[in-house]
Formats: sequence, structure tokens, C-alpha cells
Amino acid sequence: MNKPFIDMRSDTVTRPTPAMREAMAAADVGDDMMGEDPTVNRLEATVAELFGTEAAVLACSGTQSNQMGVRCHCVPGDELLIHESGHIANYEAGAPAVISGVSTRTLPGPFGMLDVETLHGKVRADDQHLVRTRLLCLENTTNIGGGRVYPLERLAELGGWARENGLAVHLDGARLFNACVADGYSPADVAQHVDTVSICFSKGLGCPMGSVLVGSAEHVRHARRTRKLLGGALRQSGFVAAAALYALDNHVDRLADDHANARLFAEKVAAVDGLSVDLASVETNLVFFEVDPALGTAAAVQDTLIDRGLRMYALGPQRLRACTHHDITREDALRAAEIVAETVGSGVTAGTKSGPYEW
Ligand SMILES: *Cc1c(COP(=O)(O)O)cnc(C)c1O
Repeated sequence: MNKPFIDMRSDTVTRPTPAMREAMAAADVGDDMMGEDPTVNRLEATVAELFGTEAAVLACSGTQSNQMGVRCHCVPGDELLIHESGHIANYEAGAPAVISGVSTRTLPGPFGMLDVETLHGKVRADDQHLVRTRLLCLENTTNIGGGRVYPLERLAELGGWARENGLAVHLDGARLFNACVADGYSPADVAQHVDTVSICFSKGLGCPMGSVLVGSAEHVRHARRTRKLLGGALRQSGFVAAAALYALDNHVDRLADDHANARLFAEKVAAVDGLSVDLASVETNLVFFEVDPALGTAAAVQDTLIDRGLRMYALGPQRLRACTHHDITREDALRAAEIVAETVGSGVTAGTKSGPYEW
């Protein structure tokens, strides 16, 4: 079958496989808002067990479950600490401010990751003038940081620092399973160092939708209330939960293939004149590479690639992101690298196209 595009824009573009669709169609369902959807209940129990937490709750999207998490820990007027490229601060439409009345204090650090040295002194004193610092948000893997994986020791250190300083920790684990597969730690290893975790089923795990927030029974009860407030409490959502359960059984270990394909793609691209990739920073399924300005802008490259059947994102004036996922085979990754090489080799028109850059 001819594929119209090799689509490496994001791991969100995957479509459910025939087997996943079968699992969805066969799901036993009920009214989840009444707590009566057996498949949702099974998913929530399964994920809570996997993370070693008291409870879990299904959400519509990663944005929704992140914001359910933020609102568990903060009240209006509070502040959260987050890396300056963090999804919660940049790509959720200002939700911490709109939904929870929370301001974001963004901090720098290599590859989208924070460390204790950077955080030192960032918890404000208890003073009537000052915003109350309440929450630390981490992202694992990092998205704009390049799909980087937090080592477990670093998460332990950050969790310990937060506890000593009276802060809660929310982990945006949209791609946490990529981190687990890459570094060989378990979801429970991670969860013990933080208070709430949001995971996405619609990224590398290949589901059409769905995220889950895990945490204590009290946090999850609070999160259910926020989910309702946000219009995210659904009825027969067992169809969605069935896809997630299928993915937990069948799509986790295979993330290693996405990582291998990303590496293969990165190595080929690194060999092309005018393109540069920091190979050591390619740890999971995201590959960021830079285009020499003499060849044109990243946006011009992005548009030229579309004409050749390859899609990826320009995420900076000279920076592109490619993402491997369930629907990208090893052959696709190799072909994609060839298309990039051919495009750059034949000279990209250094057009005036620019943006939309997110970072
Ligand atoms: C995709 C993503 C999310 C959630 O996005 P939704 O589109 O709302 O599901 C959250 N955090 C990170 C780091 C992401 O990449």
C-alpha cells in the first residue's frame, strides 16, 4: 500500500491498529461518571497498581490530566516551578492561570531538565508580599528538551528537595513509558518520588485518546472533581479504556523499536552536510536537528520536505523535530533520512517562510 506521507511530526498521529480496534469494540462498558464502567475501573486499578499508588483516574487528554494535577496541589495565588520549555507552562493555553489561578515561574536547564542547584533559593519566604511557591512540575521524557530521560537518582534528588521545602511534585509523564523503556526503571520507581503523575496513551502507546492521573486516594478524589469541572467526566468511556489496556499489554516494550529507529534516523541525518544532530542527546523517540542558515530556514526545509512526502516540524528558526512512533517502520525512518539528505543536497530555497515556532 502506498503511504501518502511519512509522518514524523508527532507520536500523536498514530491510528489504532486493527487489534486495538477489536479490543475497543469488544469493551464491556457502563456509566463511568456513576463509577459503573467496568473497563475504566479495570484500567484505573491496573495503572494504580503499576505505579504503586492508591488511585488513578482517566482523563480525556494530557493537558486535562496535567491541569487536574496542578489543581490538586495549588490554590489561586500560588506559584509552580517548571522548566522554561515545559509543556504545562507553554503548550496548555495558559491553563495554570486560567483554571487554577496559579502563576508559573520558569527556570533554565539543559535538555528541558531541572536540577537541585537551579532550584536552590527559588522557594519564596512566607511573607505577605510574596506569591506562595507550592508545586514543582517535571517532565519525563522532556519534549522540547529533546526526548531526554531523567535518571532515577535525579528524580529522587528533586523529590527529596521538594519534600524538604514543603512543595508537592507533579510529573508530566506524557512519554514516561519511553523513559522507562530507555532507562530500565519502572513506573513505580518513578512514582515514589513524586505526588502525582500524568501519563498519555495517545502518544507512543498509540491510542486514539486518553490520559491517566495517578496519586493518593485524596488527590485522585480532588482530580475527579476538577475533571468534572472541566467537562471531562464521560459516560461509556470504557471504549477508550479498552484501547489503553490493550496498549499496556502490547505497545510498551515496542517503544524500544521507536528509539532504535530514531537513532538510525539521527545517525543518517548527522552525516548530511549542513545538518547537525547532537547524537548523544538522542535517547528516545525525538530527534532535534539544526539546519545551516546557508541552506535556508527550518520552516523552508519543513515545507520542501512536505512536497517530497515527509512531514516533520520546524520548532525554531533553524531547528526541526522528527518523531518516531508506532506507524513509522525502520524502512520509513531510513527513507525519511534519505529524503532529508536529497532535499538538503538539492538546495532548499531559502524562502522567507517563518514560524509558527513554538519554542
Ligand atoms: C503531548 C504532551 C502533553 C499532553 O498533550 P495533549 O495533547 O493534551 O494530550 C503533555 N505534556 C507533554 C510533554 C506532551 O508532549
